[in-house]
Amino acid sequence: MKRRGLLIILSSPSGAGKSTLAHRLMDWDPTLSFSVSATTRTPREGEVDGQDYHFISETRFKTLVKDGEMLEHAHVFGNFYGSPEGPVRDAIEAGRDVLFDIDWQGAEQIKHSTLRDHVLSIFVLPPSIAELRRRLVGRGKDDEETIAKRMQKSWDEISHWHGYDYVLVNDDLDRTFDKLKTIVEAERLRQAQQPDLFPFIRSLQAEFEEENT
Ligand code: ADP
Ligand code: 5GP
Repeated sequence: MKRRGLLIILSSPSGAGKSTLAHRLMDWDPTLSFSVSATTRTPREGEVDGQDYHFISETRFKTLVKDGEMLEHAHVFGNFYGSPEGPVRDAIEAGRDVLFDIDWQGAEQIKHSTLRDHVLSIFVLPPSIAELRRRLVGRGKDDEETIAKRMQKSWDEISHWHGYDYVLVNDDLDRTFDKLKTIVEAERLRQAQQPDLFPFIRSLQAEFEEENT
């Protein structure tokens, strides 16, 4: 049966593990479409343009926003980030789910957009603030100043946890990932996500009536 596409939004304070979970989800289900954000920040070592992000200039970013090409956008840690709308609409029209790794401001904007009925939002918490710092340092991709800025902003992000459909404490990665899969699998089975249920029920009814006449 055909499914209606979900917009699966993962948010968390930087370092809690949402990119790691997002990558695992993509490996688990290759039919998922990852929303590649545009950003004005410089690439981290190992990041691939067009795959992790579209790395673009501030001028280009502002043009895209002005032309209405962003589903949402925000200023985070001194850089601009945004989700291009075209690929999201294409995926949804094809009945595919789209995965977003975005902050609370972006999540809010999508929840108030015309695509709001498709949204499944999940907030990822670290097991402790000390562990959040350990993960940011352990990731080894940001300098001390960047890490300090991200730690300082972590509470800002955490304070928006209650606006999400689900909240996961990412203690053990395997366990958290299992919970994430469970959420996605259950949400896909919601009545509202199965537009073909109506014709199917009608066919059951016709069969039932035929048997009972
Ligand atoms: P975010 O995308 O939220 O900024 P990342 O996914 O980049 O965070 O994770 C930050 C670091 O923490 C990475 O080095 C990642 O391997 C590690 N990490 C993620 N989840 C866990 C976990 N459950 N336990 C231990 N380390 C984790
Ligand atoms: P990072 O620089 O660590 O990749 O991302 C910094 C923060 O920006 C993270 O919280 C990430 O989820 C968020 N982010 C990434 N892309 C987007 C986007 O397109 N829109 C918004 N609103 N936030 C984003």
